[in-house]
Amino acid sequence: MSIYLDYNASAPISPDVLAYMMDVYRNYPGNADSRTHDYGENARSLIEIARGQVAALFNVRKDEIFFTSGATESNNIAILGLRKQGIKTGRKHLIVTAIEHKAVLEAAKHMETEGFELEIVNPGQDGRISSDDILSRVRKDTLLVSVMHVNNETGTIQPVDEIGTSLAKTETLFHIDATQSAGKLIPEIQNLTYNMMSFSGHKMHGPQGVGGLILRKKRYRLPPVAPIMFGGPQEHGIRPGTLPTALIAGLGKSCELAQQNYEDYRLRNSVIKSKLLKLLSESGVTYVINGSLNDCISTTLNVSFLGVSSEALMLATRQRCSIANGSACTSNMYQHSHVLSSMGLPDGQIESAVRISWDADVDVDELMYEFSHILSVVHDFTA
Ligand code: PMP
Repeated sequence: MSIYLDYNASAPISPDVLAYMMDVYRNYPGNADSRTHDYGENARSLIEIARGQVAALFNVRKDEIFFTSGATESNNIAILGLRKQGIKTGRKHLIVTAIEHKAVLEAAKHMETEGFELEIVNPGQDGRISSDDILSRVRKDTLLVSVMHVNNETGTIQPVDEIGTSLAKTETLFHIDATQSAGKLIPEIQNLTYNMMSFSGHKMHGPQGVGGLILRKKRYRLPPVAPIMFGGPQEHGIRPGTLPTALIAGLGKSCELAQQNYEDYRLRNSVIKSKLLKLLSESGVTYVINGSLNDCISTTLNVSFLGVSSEALMLATRQRCSIANGSACTSNMYQHSHVLSSMGLPDGQIESAVRISWDADVDVDELMYEFSHILSVVHDFTA
C-alpha cells in the first residue's frame, strides 16, 4: 500500500479509539433513550461521558453539544435551521466566504432560493479572508456570518477570532466550521467567541459518520436554530434519531486523546512541515505554495509544481503515496478547485496544485522519502 497523505479528507482512526469502540459495540447493545432497563442506562452513561470529553476539548458546557452525523449535517443545521428566525425577524442577509466547504456554500445557496440574500466574500491571493472585509458588509438585517477556521485545501487559518469578537457586539449570529482545526488548534478554539461551531470525528482520528454542532448559550438561551429533520426527542429535538453509542463514544475518546497528545503532536507536526519545506526549497524544482505561509496549520501543504499537471503527478506517484488535488468531495470529477479559483490564482497554478496532509502519527522517514520521490518525478517531468 502507498503511504497515506490525505488526512484532511479523513484521518486514520486511532487504535485506542477503535479498541474502545469495539468494546462498546460488543457490550453496550442498548438504546440510550431506553429508560426501562440497565442496557439503555449504560449506553446513556457512555454518551454523557463522551459529551463531557467533547465539552472539555472545546471548553464549552455539556448542554451546548449536539451530536450529529458529521460536519456536513452540523453546517446544514446551523444555516438551514435559521430559516424560521430569518422569516420571523425579517433579517434575511447572510454572509459566507468563497472558500467554505460545499456543506456551507450549498446550504447558504439553498437559503438564497428561499428568499434570503447571500453575500459570498473572496479571500486574498494568500487564501486569507479579511476580517475588515467581512465586518464592513454586516448590516442590521444580517442574520448570519459563517467563516471556517482552517481551510481544508490550503490549511490557511482564518481570522475568526477578530470576526467573532466584533460580531458579539451585534445581533448577527456567527458560525465557525472548525472541521479542520478541531483537536489541532485547541487553545485557539477554546478562546474563540462564536454562536455555533461544526466539527467531524474523522478529521481528528475518531470514527467517520459522527460529529457535532456546538450551540453556545447566551443568557441561558440557545441560538434560534430550528431542527431540519423531525423525529424523536434526542438532542433536544435539534437532531432526532437513535444516538449511535459506539460512534459517539469513539468521538469522545478522540477528543480526550487530542487533548493528551496536543503538545507533542503540535511540536512534531511543525518539525515535519519545516522538513518538507526544506526538501522543497532544496529540490531545484519550480513551485509555488498555495495559501498563507505564516497563517497556516502545520499539517497541510498545498503546492503547485508549475508546468506539471496535478492529475499526471498523482497518477505517476499513485503506487507510492496518496495525495489529493482538492477536497475529496469534488475529486471524482476534476474541476478547478473553487478555493484556489476564489484566490484569483492563474489556471496553470490551479491545475498543478497538489495537497499533502498528515498528522504526527505518520511515519516521518517514509513521508520524507516519498516526498523526495514526488520531487524527483516533478524534476523528470520538467527536465
Ligand atoms: N467542513 C470542512 C472544512 C471539511 O473539510 C469537511 C470534510 N471534508 C466537512 C466540512 C464535511 O465533513 P463530513 O464529510 O465529515 O460531513
